[in-house]
Amino acid sequence: MNELMGKAVCGGIAIGKIKYFAKKENKVQRTSVQDKEQEIARYETAKNKAIEELNALYETAVVKVGEDNAEIFNVHAMMLEDEDYNDSVKNIIRMQSVNAEYAVAVTGDNFAEMFANMDDDYFKARSADVKDISERVVRILSGAGDSKHLTDEPVILIADDLAPSETVQMDKSFLLAFVTRYGSSNSHTAILSRTMAIPALIGTEIDPSYDGKIGIVDGFTGTFIVDPDMELLETYMEKKKQEDEKKALLLELKGKENVTKSGQKINIYANIGNPGDLASVLANDAGGIGLFRSEFLYLESDTFPTEEQQFEAYKKVVETMGGKKVIIRTLDIGADKQVDYFNLDHEENPALGYRAIRICLSEPEIFRTQLRALFRASAYGNLTIMYPMIISLEEVREIKAISKAVREELMAEGIRIGDVEEGIMIETPAAAIMSDVLAKEVDFFSIGTNDLTQYTLAIDRQNAKLERFNNTHHPAILRLIKMVCENAHAAGIWTGICGELGADTSLTEEFLRMGVDELSVSPSAVLSVRKAVREC
Ligand code: PEP
Ligand code: MG
Repeated sequence: MNELMGKAVCGGIAIGKIKYFAKKENKVQRTSVQDKEQEIARYETAKNKAIEELNALYETAVVKVGEDNAEIFNVHAMMLEDEDYNDSVKNIIRMQSVNAEYAVAVTGDNFAEMFANMDDDYFKARSADVKDISERVVRILSGAGDSKHLTDEPVILIADDLAPSETVQMDKSFLLAFVTRYGSSNSHTAILSRTMAIPALIGTEIDPSYDGKIGIVDGFTGTFIVDPDMELLETYMEKKKQEDEKKALLLELKGKENVTKSGQKINIYANIGNPGDLASVLANDAGGIGLFRSEFLYLESDTFPTEEQQFEAYKKVVETMGGKKVIIRTLDIGADKQVDYFNLDHEENPALGYRAIRICLSEPEIFRTQLRALFRASAYGNLTIMYPMIISLEEVREIKAISKAVREELMAEGIRIGDVEEGIMIETPAAAIMSDVLAKEVDFFSIGTNDLTQYTLAIDRQNAKLERFNNTHHPAILRLIKMVCENAHAAGIWTGICGELGADTSLTEEFLRMGVDELSVSPSAVLSVRKAVREC
């Protein structure tokens, strides 16, 4: 038995089999195989999958960089069909009785060297391409880092770290808990675990050898037990039962108002990442959606989601919410939320970099596609749009001009659109300080305390080492929230909080005193915040 301590980022008890999630392993191992023809068949399947991926990349690139620049992906797909390349891979498997990964890697190296030694510049340049396609096939063959098809039974997932793009692609019904070595409480992976209501620990010394063993995760104390004895197992089974009973008690608050003893009311909404989270929003009786992180639609996809795909997703959310407010935030890619097909440059300071509204204003086609989908979906329910990472009045005016043009374009096409409120997130100190000016331009504010804290305290929210300095109750943050509320109300608009601080029930009373109009929290926190409000 092994008992480890980590930092709990989502409460709850989980008991079950442990699964170690291995990231992409670059080093290819040479192993002997008995059935060479079966190995060749494995190669053929992986190659076809690689060609499919390249075709999808081509489609994405055409939209983003035009046909000429996208052509490289077609060239890559053609290289994979090359007879010499394929003969080489199959010969190595047949002659040496080795695994397909090894045969592809050796072929890739040999061809790359051959191209590099050619005089013609065009062929020289193909050296990197042949290496690239070989790496793609090796990755598919090894199945490493493929978070989509991780397991077919419920598991406690352990990993060194998990990127939001990996977490979001996992099948929630098979996840009992997450335990990671790295990560921080406000990283998007931690936020996702709270949205999914999955117990999660960070900063835990996990080991790959735990794979397959039975584990217990206590998301209240931060304990991770590997291979527990019978007595401990029984103790935790009892604890889990009590926990389930407590949850059932909270359910009695369903249908009740969010009202204090003195009669002050507040809206309690839920944060979601995709339409799949709606069941939990309804089960926990949220009054609306206060933050739909639309970028998760992009993270789940291998290419840019089309206008039609986005329209269907937004329509489904507003229709399911049946007239309740649904605040959809436009794309907030960048920083820890990376997507391969955006081809974002490596940055020294990604949190201060090319992200969110900065991408949308620099690449208006991406922005316009999303806005068209949003406005079209607005005809089907109470849809509200919110823009992230704002720092200036100029940005807000530029956004409004684009939004107006998109609406006019849709109307000219005879497309019906609803009455859409447009607001901004206050998640930079600049926006908070300028909130008196910004309030005159928009319909509402939603305070993103996760980023507001990161930028105000100069604490990288991804850095686990800074956890002890990350005082989420820092007076500077509370002053900024109070100031934003006052400025919003002076201009006659409402303000909410959609960062994780909104669910901190030790602050509920203070938020009510400040006049916060709405708190948007993970679906599983809705009823505990309602309880806190009713006890104020
Ligand atoms: C925030 O910054 O508080 C927020 C809600 O946005 P995100 O956590 O997605 O950055
Ligand atoms: Mg943010």
